[in-house]
Amino acid sequence: MEHRDGSSSSRVSCSRAPVSSSPIPYREMPLDYSPVVICHCGLKAPCWISWSVLNPGRRYHTCPLRHGLQVICMSDPPTTTFLRELIGDLRDFCVKWRKENEVLKAEAADVEMQLTKMQKRIAEEENKVLSLEDEVKTMRKELQN
Ligand SMILES: [Zn+2]
Repeated sequence: MEHRDGSSSSRVSCSRAPVSSSPIPYREMPLDYSPVVICHCGLKAPCWISWSVLNPGRRYHTCPLRHGLQVICMSDPPTTTFLRELIGDLRDFCVKWRKENEVLKAEAADVEMQLTKMQKRIAEEENKVLSLEDEVKTMRKELQN
């Protein structure tokens, strides 16, 4: 890979990219960076954020065609052990919180569905009561006559 100045870029799909598995949203999308890093195949190499134990928070480039190339951004120097552990703890907390949030959302959707069913059933029962009350009224009128 080589660094190239300028704004030329190859747009490549990043759907299989680590963006979706990142514990936090990317501030800058993987292809929206400069100076451009180009793989030897000619494609612009997306820029990812590492969440690994050894290099958390450091950006790196990979080939979109997965040529196995991986280049760490030189502008992101290695950090201290304390910060690596802190970033790792934050990453783990975000992942745990996201999973818990998904479970809670699914449970809330379940409860919402049950509530809708119960409300429908209550409305049906209320209609039955109203129709029984009508029947009672009619029978009373018949008895009075
Ligand atoms: Zn390549």
